Amino acid sequence: MSQQRAEPASATLAHWSSPDGDPPTIVEGEGCYVTDSEGTEHLDFIAQLYCVNAGHGNETINAAIEEQLSKVAYVSSAKHNDTRAKLADELAAIAPGDLSNTFFSVSGSEANEAAVQIAREYTDAPKVLTRYQSYHGGTYGAGGLTGDPSTRAALEPYGGTAAAKFLPPLPDAFDAEGEELAERAANHLEYVIRNEGHETVGAVLMEPVAGTSGAYPAPEGYFERVREVCDEYDVLLIADEVIAGFGRCGEWFGIETEGVEPDMLTFAKGVTSAYAPLAGVLVGPEIAASVREGGYDLGQTFGGHPVSCAAGLGALSAYRDGLLENVRENAAYFESELRELEAYDAVANVRGRGFLWGIEFGVGGEREEPLVDPWIEPDAENPVEAVIEEAAERNVLLGAGRPATQVICAPPLCAGREEIDEG
Ligand code: PLP
Repeated sequence: MSQQRAEPASATLAHWSSPDGDPPTIVEGEGCYVTDSEGTEHLDFIAQLYCVNAGHGNETINAAIEEQLSKVAYVSSAKHNDTRAKLADELAAIAPGDLSNTFFSVSGSEANEAAVQIAREYTDAPKVLTRYQSYHGGTYGAGGLTGDPSTRAALEPYGGTAAAKFLPPLPDAFDAEGEELAERAANHLEYVIRNEGHETVGAVLMEPVAGTSGAYPAPEGYFERVREVCDEYDVLLIADEVIAGFGRCGEWFGIETEGVEPDMLTFAKGVTSAYAPLAGVLVGPEIAASVREGGYDLGQTFGGHPVSCAAGLGALSAYRDGLLENVRENAAYFESELRELEAYDAVANVRGRGFLWGIEFGVGGEREEPLVDPWIEPDAENPVEAVIEEAAERNVLLGAGRPATQVICAPPLCAGREEIDEG
C-alpha cells in the first residue's frame, strides 16, 4: 500500500503563496483603498510593498494591458517589440544624465544582479560595495549584495558569491543631519576602496533612500561626495531605484533628489505600478556598447514582457498625469503631520522623503536605546508590530522596517490630504 501523503501544508512563510493562510484576503482595490473578502475596506498606506504607486484599479494601466493582450501577449525577449521599444524610449527620456539604454529583466533582484554583471564586464573588477542595512533583493546573487543582516543571515552560508563588501556603519552614519556626517560617511567609502585596492572595486551599489530596512535618507551632501569618490577611483555608481524610483521620493528617480547622476540605475516595482512584473537596468551608451561588443547575454525569457511593458507605459502616463505633481504638493504636509509624532516619548524620529516615511522607535526618543530588541520575532511585544496591528484593526495597512525599529508609511502616490490624515 502506498504511504499516506502528509497533510498538505498551507504555506505560511512570508511571501509564499499566502503569508497568513487565512482569509480575509484582499480581493479588490481602488485608488488608495483595498477591500477584503469580507467586504471591509482598508487604507493601503504602504502601497502593498511600496509598489502600487499609481494606486489600485488605475484605468489607464488596465487599458494599456488589455490593448497589448488583444494584439499579442508575448514576443521573444530576443526580438524587437514595439511596446518594449516605446517603453525603453520613454525611460530614456526621464532617466538622469545619459542613461538611455535599458536592459529589461523581471524583478528588482534580477535587475541588480544584471547591473553587477554589467559592471564587472565593463570594469573588469570583481568587487561591489554596498551599504550596511541596504536591501538589494532576495535571490542568490542579489541577497549576497544585500547588507541587511536579517536577509544575509537567512542566506548564509550560501550567499556571498557576489563578492560584495559591506560598508560598515559609522556611529550614526545615517542618523543625523549635517555635512560633517556626510563627509565622514563618504570618506569612509574612500577608505574602503583604497584598502580593498581600488582597481579591484568595480561598483558601489546604493539605494538613494533606503526602504526595506527602514526609510533612511542619507545625510545632505553624502551622495555628492560619493560621486566624487567614485569618479576619483573609476568606480561605477549604481543607484538602486527599486523603491525610490517612479515618484516615490517626489521626482522620477530618488537619486535626482540628491543632485547627482549615477552611472547605472536599476528599477522595478513602480515602473508598472506593480500591475505586472517588470524591472531593468539603465546604462549610458558607452557601457551599453561595451556590453554588446562583449557579446554578453543578459536575456531572460520574461525580461521586458510586452504585457508588462504596456503596463509600464500606462503607469508612466499616470505619473505624468498628476501623480508626481501630487507627491510634490503633499510631501511637506505629509512630513509635518508625521513629525508631530516626534512629541511622543517612544518615537526617536521621523525620516524619509516624498511619500516614503519611517517612524523610528526608541527609549525616550533615543535611537541608541531600542525600546525592545529589534531582532525579536515580529510580535505584539515589539512596539512597531503593535502599532502595525493596531492600525490594521482600524483598517489602515502599514509596513515595518527590517529589523523592526520603524513603522513605514508609503501610500500610493494618488493619496491626497484626506488619505494622509486618515493614515
Ligand atoms: N532593491 C530594493 C531597494 C528593494 O527594495 C527590493 C525589494 O523590495 C529589491 C531590490 C528586490 O526587488 P524584487 O523583490 O522585485 O526582486
